[in-house]
Amino acid sequence: MKITEVQSTTKEQRVAAHSHIKGLGLRDEDGFAEHTAAGFVGQVQAREAIGLIVDLIKNKKMAGRAVLLAGAPGTGKTALALALSQELGSKVPFCPMVGSEVYSSEIKKTEVLMENFRRAIGLRIREVKEVYEGEVTELAVEETENPLGGYGKAISHVVLTLKTVKNAKQLKLDPVVYESLQKEKVQVGDVIYIEASSGVAKRVGRSDAYATEFDLEAEEYVPLPKGEVHKKKDIVQDVTLHDLDVANARPQGGQDIMSLMGQIMKPKKTEITDKLRKEINKVVNKYIDQGVAELVPGVLFVDEVHMLDIECFTYLNRALESSMAPIVVFATNRGVCTIRGTEDIASPHGIPSDLLDRLLIVRTKPYDEAEIRVVLQIRAKTEGLQIADDALAALAAKGVTTSLRYAIQLLTPAAILAKMNGRATIAEEDIAECEGLFFDAKASARGLLPARLGELAGTGDVDMMT
Ligand code: ATP
Repeated sequence: MKITEVQSTTKEQRVAAHSHIKGLGLRDEDGFAEHTAAGFVGQVQAREAIGLIVDLIKNKKMAGRAVLLAGAPGTGKTALALALSQELGSKVPFCPMVGSEVYSSEIKKTEVLMENFRRAIGLRIREVKEVYEGEVTELAVEETENPLGGYGKAISHVVLTLKTVKNAKQLKLDPVVYESLQKEKVQVGDVIYIEASSGVAKRVGRSDAYATEFDLEAEEYVPLPKGEVHKKKDIVQDVTLHDLDVANARPQGGQDIMSLMGQIMKPKKTEITDKLRKEINKVVNKYIDQGVAELVPGVLFVDEVHMLDIECFTYLNRALESSMAPIVVFATNRGVCTIRGTEDIASPHGIPSDLLDRLLIVRTKPYDEAEIRVVLQIRAKTEGLQIADDALAALAAKGVTTSLRYAIQLLTPAAILAKMNGRATIAEEDIAECEGLFFDAKASARGLLPARLGELAGTGDVDMMT
């Protein structure tokens, strides 16, 4: 099984909006929530309830059960599910999906669910490897004339000087590596180690409990001379079962240029079959038995659960029983509605009663203006934006009539407008200008109503907009 070069397939984009959330913000001594802590503001009851669920999970009392977060859009359901995964430990996978994702003309619904289940199950692999370890003493860019002509110079090499145990060594690296070094924010003074056999480099230390890995392909690595001190190091790698599926489904070795071209023109779909998954499970179980690896169940977050149909619910009921199941957190903003895929069976949140019985339901409540204001402040800080007090107040007021999510989303365009108006700080005018340019959902629907009333009369569509 291919493990060493497994690339992570985490859905980072969707999590970026919650980068200010660092946990549930509960007090260690009694589990009560501070009003504002770990990036979380308000929603105190829900946070405490999720805290209790963290305890249940840690005491292995959640098997076969799941969580349902019920509340209006933008009331922090996704944020709560993410915080739950953070409370379970660092590097615990978090996989967010939306119910409607299962509807695709190409992939079976249960296949989509299965893939997301596997994205939410982590595997921590420990291996003892020979490494060179050293401190970065220089990280410099060597430039040459731009080979394409024109202005500016091109990076020819990146020089990474490493002070190892015996002596200082210079590694010349390809420019592409520079990007990963920058991404990992590798600086002079950092301790990194390089696997003796593969040339894969890792940074150690910092706040991360586990070293992060960045690409240093074997051929780009200039081997350190023999006689340099090798150390044995416990190397920990965190992957998800889905990462392993993808890595092992890719066609391996011996590719000619035409097939590579083909892949560029038409991204190759990786075929992950049931057989492959079974094989992987077998190897994973073997590793677990040998004590080389341990399972790290993560959190699968299924937003808009009412969009799933009866077939999906049947599958979920079964999947929740599996020994390899992640913690599943559903979310919905619907009350009683028809279960999809049935004629007219209505049920709370559109969920069949046999699944409802397994759920611990937590309500999320709308935020007040003061709370929205604090969240906006935290978000602005996270995004590195300056915002004036009156602008913050105007945006918070807007958040009350629309939603917290909408108010947060206006921050970036407002910052761009401020910059265009020659200001470094977002002012009230910028918020007002944004409101002139963009419509929130209610205003947009209202705007359409008079013009379309005649057209829609008698169709029933009018009701939805009033
Ligand atoms: P939907 O049901 O529409 O998906 P949601 O209930 O999942 O909405 P989120 O996406 O979690 O809402 O919240 C919207 C934004 O507000 C996110 O950026 C989230 O991190 C932030 N947010 C929500 N609640 C809080 C809170 N209590 N404290 C800090 N940030 C919050």
